[in-house]
Amino acid sequence: MITQDFPPETGGIQTYSLCHARVLAGKCDRFGVICPDHPDAAAIDNTLGFPVIRLKIRNDLLIVSLLRNLNRRLKEHPVDATFHSQWQTAAAGIRARNRGLIKQVFVAAHIRELLFNPFAAVPGLGRLFTAYRNRVLQQVDHFYPVSDYTARSLMELGVEASKITVVINGTDPQQFYPDDASGLKQKLGLGSKKVILTITRLVERKGLDTVLESLEKVLKKVPEAHYLVVGEGEDRQRLESIIRKNGLAGNVTFTGRVPYEELNAYYNAGDLFVMPSRTQPPDVEGFGIVFLEANACGLPVIGSDSGGIPSAIKHGATGFIVPEGDSGLLAERIIELLTHSELRDRLGNEGRRRVVEEANWQSVSSKLFEDLQARLEH
Ligand code: GDP
Repeated sequence: MITQDFPPETGGIQTYSLCHARVLAGKCDRFGVICPDHPDAAAIDNTLGFPVIRLKIRNDLLIVSLLRNLNRRLKEHPVDATFHSQWQTAAAGIRARNRGLIKQVFVAAHIRELLFNPFAAVPGLGRLFTAYRNRVLQQVDHFYPVSDYTARSLMELGVEASKITVVINGTDPQQFYPDDASGLKQKLGLGSKKVILTITRLVERKGLDTVLESLEKVLKKVPEAHYLVVGEGEDRQRLESIIRKNGLAGNVTFTGRVPYEELNAYYNAGDLFVMPSRTQPPDVEGFGIVFLEANACGLPVIGSDSGGIPSAIKHGATGFIVPEGDSGLLAERIIELLTHSELRDRLGNEGRRRVVEEANWQSVSSKLFEDLQARLEH
């Protein structure tokens, strides 16, 4: 596995890489990770039980280092294939394959890394980068996008459908599970409230302003509703000014960032989870792991039809999908769930069942491994 992003840094691709690596390492005859170095790397690497080769280079320049030394490493430690967590490092794998050092090059696809062009503002250079990306994509043996949306995006970039297998993200049902959160609710002063929850980095595209817009309508029908927002980010001031302007200060609580060990309690403090993301390319929701985390805790979820969210939510089964930006429909769905406890339980239970049986890292990584193995034996 070659990845620009790996713990101890936090983030979607970091979690994806670590969780797949753990399972793949147990199934492959030989397995190792190559990723950039980090000052606190040893603390995690020593616990993993498979080699993690740390290269002293900036994340987005990992390819430079790989082009210099991947072939030598592969000669010393032969493997059948490279699996790249982002296309950005695939050129080194392609070169190794073309020299006969590996059989195939596999690449994951999330979304932002696929659409982001660091030279977009410089016309000539921007076009060159796009041409380079498309040439790399054409030479990859097989892609593993995390959602149907990302799969369609790959096809729009010229990748043949036969080279694409969707393997959705997962979560850990042992880390996220239904639990009594009445203590935390008391501490937050929400003991008697019905809690609408969002846990996310606070950035504009997550659509928290759409939730704020819907609140007035929700409060008319459900006066004891309260909006709990967990996470931190650049959009907080703007959201707080909307709250002041709309007189919602008593109906919304921001907790700021909470430590990982406390996340489960915060999910369980919610009656439902909501995140109506907006599409602002290249900033697009590739999947939305938070929907699975909330489902794992037995919460029904509401998301928008943006990006990969429809692969994270089974509409009508584990939650609801509303059109992005539509605060009216969002309010209706929130009211429906807050006033129908039986519906809330049904969707929440089905969400938990889906995580336990399908949308967990063990299951999705096993699916990934079986597909890789079949392609290598073919
Ligand atoms: P992305 O950040 O856009 O990739 O969105 P995802 O929903 O795919 O992933 C976000 C991840 O960050 C999830 O695993 C969240 O639990 C986690 N996260 C978001 N906010 C917080 C926070 O305040 N504290 C902690 N510990 N994790 C958070």
